[in-house]
Amino acid sequence: MIQIYIPLNFLGVIYREIKQNLTDLDKMFTLMDKEQEVADAPGAVALAGLDAPTVRFEDVHFAYDPARPILRGVSLTIPAGKTVAVVGPSGAGKSTLSRLLYRFYDLQDGRITIAGQDIRAVTQQSLRRAIGIVPQDTVLFNDTVAYNIAYGRTDATQAEVEQAARAAHIHDFIMSTPQGYATMVGERGLKLSGGEKQRVAIARTLLKNPPILIFDEATSALDSANERAIQAELRQVAQGKTTLVIAHRLSTVVDAHEIVVMEAGRIVERGTHAALLAQGGRYASMWALQQNSSENTF
Ligand code: ATP
Repeated sequence: MIQIYIPLNFLGVIYREIKQNLTDLDKMFTLMDKEQEVADAPGAVALAGLDAPTVRFEDVHFAYDPARPILRGVSLTIPAGKTVAVVGPSGAGKSTLSRLLYRFYDLQDGRITIAGQDIRAVTQQSLRRAIGIVPQDTVLFNDTVAYNIAYGRTDATQAEVEQAARAAHIHDFIMSTPQGYATMVGERGLKLSGGEKQRVAIARTLLKNPPILIFDEATSALDSANERAIQAELRQVAQGKTTLVIAHRLSTVVDAHEIVVMEAGRIVERGTHAALLAQGGRYASMWALQQNSSENTF
């Protein structure tokens, strides 16, 4: 029995090791696959009017699998320089909105425009240059922390990288690691906590300085001091940018220009925090629930 157990256990360890090392490669290929799913239209032009772009979702319908509609006619406008927050239960389709805006997928009906241009009519390169994403789970490459911050703006100088890291409040942490900005991170390097990874993503976004931002808030709660600090940094980054926030904690969205409540692929309520509270509907009960809940997420 023991003779069988040891090799199997050993194989298990090797399997986990290989699987972990492949995870980020895996994620990268997944992203590359997604990029191949959409293609530039013939005659696609560069996205223009990026000084103060308004983003519009117009009656958007989308399904990953034709048998299961995910978005069932979503319309929303993010005015230039403002923040619109999307809230709602898990699986409502919130993150799908951000994937469609970044054009990982093409929608089936309706359209998404930036500064009046249908995103299917512009080059993917110009679209993605205009959008910065702070995702739920930041992919870190098996490379140095400096490379990970500069990813997306490879021409950045070391001074610019450090300036972004300071603004994202990750500089001191980086300086405390064995080789500072040359420290290897990712699956095979130094493992960062959820909050540290988010800060790397914020620094990356600051460096890229795009006119449009997407914040997909992490589902897993950080400790509350960290949480408040990250929210303050995000607010600072979002200043004057056209921003879509996918929120899991209502405390994040209080100041949004508009809050959109989604359920099963539809918008069921919309308005400012105060208006939605006064309405006494779905948002108001979610708010009451979160005020009483220690988890503080939904
Ligand atoms: P959460 O709050 O849990 O992040 P969400 O509202 O952001 O949820 P989405 O991530 O937009 O939800 O997902 C909406 C639905 O689409 C879910 O039921 C999910 O299982 C499904 N879905 C998401 N990604 C894919 C995919 N790549 N292929 C197939 N179905 C998917």
